[in-house]
Amino acid sequence: MFETLSDRLTSVFSSLRSKGRLSDADIDATCREIRIALLEADVALPVVKDFVARVKERARGAEVSGALNPAQQVVKIVNDELIEILGGETRRLRYAKTPPTVVMLAGLQGSGKTTLAGKLAKWLRDQGHAPLLVAADLQRPNAVQQLSVVAERAGVAVYAPEPGNGVGDPVAVARQSIDHARRQQHDIVIVDTAGRLGIDQELMRQAADIRDAVTPDEVLFVVDAMIGQDAVSTAQAFMDGVGFDGVVLTKLDGDARGGAALSVRHVTGRPIMFASTGEKLEDFDAFHPDRMAGRILD
Ligand code: GDP
Repeated sequence: MFETLSDRLTSVFSSLRSKGRLSDADIDATCREIRIALLEADVALPVVKDFVARVKERARGAEVSGALNPAQQVVKIVNDELIEILGGETRRLRYAKTPPTVVMLAGLQGSGKTTLAGKLAKWLRDQGHAPLLVAADLQRPNAVQQLSVVAERAGVAVYAPEPGNGVGDPVAVARQSIDHARRQQHDIVIVDTAGRLGIDQELMRQAADIRDAVTPDEVLFVVDAMIGQDAVSTAQAFMDGVGFDGVVLTKLDGDARGGAALSVRHVTGRPIMFASTGEKLEDFDAFHPDRMAGRILD
């Protein structure tokens, strides 16, 4: 991931290496190159504009003397600003004071939500928690079955309507799952909700009804990083329709450009909390802005 952006930025920085001091014209030229690199990486325009303006302002104000040469100074500024747009500090999961902690997942069909539910459950189980996965996606015929398979692979329990019980009411299932979790001593409930191929009102309403029924501690918006700029518009639609506290980026392994990762925080004001980087349950971790910035500038 981020290959093109990394390469572009590396060449921008290497052209500065021979300079003893940076003139305003050097800084302007560098900022133009950075702007192109970010746009090519599919970063949203308002994000690019803000980013470049901040780099320019800081580069102009940078002290000439000091431990870093001008090229190193620019690299440091870009690194700091990348960390900033990626969210600054790592945002950790907030646990409820009184268990169970309720985490609700929302996102489009195909975003990798069900896979993510399993990954998150396993990640939490590995830390000593006892998560319960809840199948509140009763839209797709085999969604419940798929979540059960994922739960089994993750070694966690699943709460789902009995097969053959008709279509069922996802809001009721979600509500009942919380009582079930209390009885069975699950300290975390992960509610998987239905996704559609596109945004629609009914999807949003159902997700909002489930949210109201389970009052989640965290609503996580799951989005496929490979959809690039569309990730931003989808995020905005979910923000308006359901609201969310954090973002999970999936399929980062297939995303060569990185536009979604670099835009979504800035545009929605919500942090990226987790990243998914493959189809296996282990291909998942908490999202660390500093590590990601380091990888881009590696
Ligand atoms: P849902 O419809 O949102 O529940 O999406 P699924 O969990 O069924 O995932 C859709 C497809 O994306 C499946 O083929 C998954 O194996 C695949 N997938 C999910 N997460 C990742 C990821 O991080 N990387 C890659 N390469 N594929 C993924």
